[in-house]
Amino acid sequence: MHIHTRPRSSCSILTLNQLYNSLSKRLEGICITDHWKVNPIRKISFEPYKVFFGVEIASNQGDILAYGIKRVPPNKRDAEEVINLIHKQDGVAVSAHPYSERHNAFHDGVFNYHFDAIEINGAIHKKANKQAKRAAKIMDLPTIGGSDAHSQSQLNTFATKFQNRIYSIRDIVFAVRNKKCKAVRI
Ligand SMILES: [Zn+2]
Ligand SMILES: [Zn+2]
Repeated sequence: MHIHTRPRSSCSILTLNQLYNSLSKRLEGICITDHWKVNPIRKISFEPYKVFFGVEIASNQGDILAYGIKRVPPNKRDAEEVINLIHKQDGVAVSAHPYSERHNAFHDGVFNYHFDAIEINGAIHKKANKQAKRAAKIMDLPTIGGSDAHSQSQLNTFATKFQNRIYSIRDIVFAVRNKKCKAVRI
């Protein structure tokens, strides 16, 4: 649910070939979330994995993952505006790595916004994920798991288990909104 690919995310060295060749057999699908780009990469076949596209947006207060939107909210806006723009498009907004010390992250500010889920992130410290889990519990929100991979070695850490079958990004939106998902270790 959180993967950065090269060349679409300049911070990533993970090519599509490397991504395909490194995916755990335990995964049924992936969601690529490049920065500010949500349009699908054309002509990629990841059989037997399903491939979906979300996006990571840096708001003034912290990074936000969005799923189910077509137009990406603009740069350097307040989180409230970004989340509203996501919800207006019938998408879901997730607080990415909320307690990370080395990312653009909400920390306790996460409680001030209308998120649909909280992310458990494979690229950060255990303690930060513990705090994220706690926030999700207090906010009565589901968790999603993502590797936040920028390279091959960062793949296959956390994934998201859905209660319903996922065939489209709309199925992901439905599951998150209805709290039918949770972060799991791979
Ligand atoms: Zn981020
Ligand atoms: Zn990221």
